[in-house]
Order: sequence, then C-alpha cells, then structure tokens
Amino acid sequence: MAQSTLSVILLIFNCFLFIESVPTPLETPVRYDGAQLWNVDLSDEQTRQMVFDLENEFDVSFWSTSHAEADMFLKKSAIESVRQILNKNNIEYSVRVDDMQKRIEEESSQLYGEESLYGNNNKSLTWDAYYSFDDILLFLDKLVEKYPNLCSLETIGYSHENRPLKVLKISNGNSGNKAIWIDGGIHAREWISPASVTYIVNDLVENWNNQPAYIQNVNWYVLPVHNPDGYEYTRKSDRMWRKNRSKNNNNHCLGVDLNRNYGYKWGGKGTSSNPCSEIYAGSGPFSEPESTAVKNFVETSEENFDAFLTFHSYGQWILYPWGYENHIPTEDRDDLDSAGRQAAKSMKAVDKQVYTVGNSADLLYAAAGGSDDWGKSVGIKYSYTIELRDKGRYGFVLPPKYILATAKEAHAFVFTFAQIIAAN
Ligand SMILES: [Zn+2]
Repeated sequence: MAQSTLSVILLIFNCFLFIESVPTPLETPVRYDGAQLWNVDLSDEQTRQMVFDLENEFDVSFWSTSHAEADMFLKKSAIESVRQILNKNNIEYSVRVDDMQKRIEEESSQLYGEESLYGNNNKSLTWDAYYSFDDILLFLDKLVEKYPNLCSLETIGYSHENRPLKVLKISNGNSGNKAIWIDGGIHAREWISPASVTYIVNDLVENWNNQPAYIQNVNWYVLPVHNPDGYEYTRKSDRMWRKNRSKNNNNHCLGVDLNRNYGYKWGGKGTSSNPCSEIYAGSGPFSEPESTAVKNFVETSEENFDAFLTFHSYGQWILYPWGYENHIPTEDRDDLDSAGRQAAKSMKAVDKQVYTVGNSADLLYAAAGGSDDWGKSVGIKYSYTIELRDKGRYGFVLPPKYILATAKEAHAFVFTFAQIIAAN
C-alpha cells in the first residue's frame, strides 16, 4: 500500500490519547464484563466530532484514533446507546473485542505471579506469559549472578511506591564501545513492552560469545520496567491503567503520564493539566521520581549515548522526534527516517508484520513531554519510540501466544540499530 494512503488510514496509538478517567482507590480488581473494543469509521469531520463527543456522555474512551478511524473502548453500560446513535447516523463500526473481561481472564490464566516465581521452570523467563515485576527483577539478578563479568545492575532511583528502578548494564568493558539505552513499560498496561525488552536482554547475554562485533562493542543499558507501580497495578487492580501511581497532592485522581512528564517542551500539545486525565503531564517537568531517575542517570553517565530506544504498544509504529509540535523536523530527519525503515524491514522479516515509520507528530499528532523528544534534546542521535503489536485486534490485551513473535520483532529492531550505529 502506498505510504500516502497508509498515512491517511493510520491509526493513532494509545500514547497520544485524550482520555479522561476518574479512578478511585480499589479494594477489588476492576472488572470489564461485557466491555467491548470497536473500530469506528470516521468518514468526515462531522462524524468525527459526533464520535468523539460520545466520550462526554457515555462510558467510552479512545485507545487509538486517526482521521479515518478510531479504536473505541466501551463499558457495557454504554454499548446499546452508542450502537443506536451510530446506526441512526449511518456510522460504520466493527467489534474487535466482544468481552474484554474474557480476554483479560484468558491472559491471566497464563500469567506468572508471586506464587510461582519464574512460572514453572525456575530457570528463566519463558515468553509464553506475562511476568510480575518481582519475577523480572529476579531474572535480572540471576543474569548478574551467572555472568558477573558481563552484567551489572544499578538502582537508578525508586518509584512512588518505593520499587527499585534497576538498570542492567551489559558490557565487555572495552574502551571505545558505543552506548545504547533501552527502556520498556513506561505505560503500565502495555505489557508486551517489558516482555519484549527482557527477551532482548536474555538473548544479548545468553548468546554473548556468538554475538557479532556490532553487538559486543556496545555498552547496553536496559531498564525493563520504567513504571513498576503502574505495572503491578495493572496486574492486581486495573488492567487498563496507563500512568504511574503518583498521589498528585491528594487529588482524588492518581497518576501522571510519565511519557508526558519529560522536560523537553513540557506541558505543550497533546498533554493535560488535569490530574484525572490519562495524559496528565504532572505538576512540572520531571515532577516524577521515575522520569527523574532516567534523566539523572543519562545526564550524569560518562557515556555519550548513540541511541535511546523506548518500547510501547500498540499500533506497530517506529516513531522519531520531534513529537511536541507538528512539522518541525530534526536536523537529521533523513538519517532517522532511513534507519527506521531499515529496522522496519528487519522486523517484517520475522513474521511478515508491517511497522510504519515516521515522525510522531506528523504521522499521528503532537504530544509534548515524551521521553524520545527529551533523549533527542540531550543530543542522542537515534531516539525512537517503538509501538509494538498489534494494530487493534486485541489492543493492550495482547494474548500471550503473540509475545515471542513480537519480542523477536523488537529484537530485530535493536540489532538493526546496533549495526547502523557501528557503521557510523
Ligand atoms: Zn505507550
């Protein structure tokens, strides 16, 4: 399909959403019985406005939207009324997920938790299920224990709820190595991200002696779970939570969108100053311990990072700065674009999945305070946001059977970049 056609029909992924929500402290997990995910056709501006106005009246939110279509998540109570309105106005839609609670339960049945550290084998993660934050920490500890000359762990800070933000460094210690930063899980509900990042780490380390020079001559810094409080909250309380768990000065709404809290052009387009919003940017730039930890680590590091790669879901996008404003290219836009395309090609070779490459603000729309913009602003040339699978069939609740293939795509992305960087 031609790029121009694609850009018209492209979905805008979750990270750029405008959703208002009013969470309350929870005793029991939020249930999504009968909740559905619809893909709605937005044929013209009038339709578009009508569809987005539904959010003000009914219990619906938008996970993904573009000029042409929108992924709309509907609580059960909203379904009949919204269906009638769409039908009356001849707005086409299709049901992608007909009962979100069932999807969540299917996913949970293959979820490794506290009772069974490392699931059933006690040796490594297995990438056939989603693991707890504690399991991921244990996985990192074991790598360091097994490969003390290659791996080291540094706690770069603590989350609001005092979980450690642990960065794994993988390095042969050679001078003159390149340096690559990778993080996952900045958005809580995007579980495929930490799963993919741990897969990459595992391959780097376990197969180190067979890795090509462009992998070995890199100092790797990996933060698999940038937002551990949010991650655990999605496992125990609300599968659809996005932000961290900041108290917001005792506002009744918790959480800051960490991917709006980074300091470059903070508080601009595509952000909210309302603590109840899904895209609340926080009380100021780097107001959150999780984003501040990464900032301090990168800024005080002796490394000159060559790449800053942050993994999200969903939508299958490879996005580069600037994201804060439309139509403002970076000086080296052509380099970022062609490198992104090379990566997309190697990702497609894994399992025929198409990843679309482009500037985030132009391809989707502007959102300020993202970590990729900040990475670029401090001089890291190859700064990207990678939106992993899928394209809206399951959205955030990606069934575990897709973890491995998706992780291999993320792996292909990283390897391509290491190769590009080595050649520079
Ligand atoms: Zn995200």
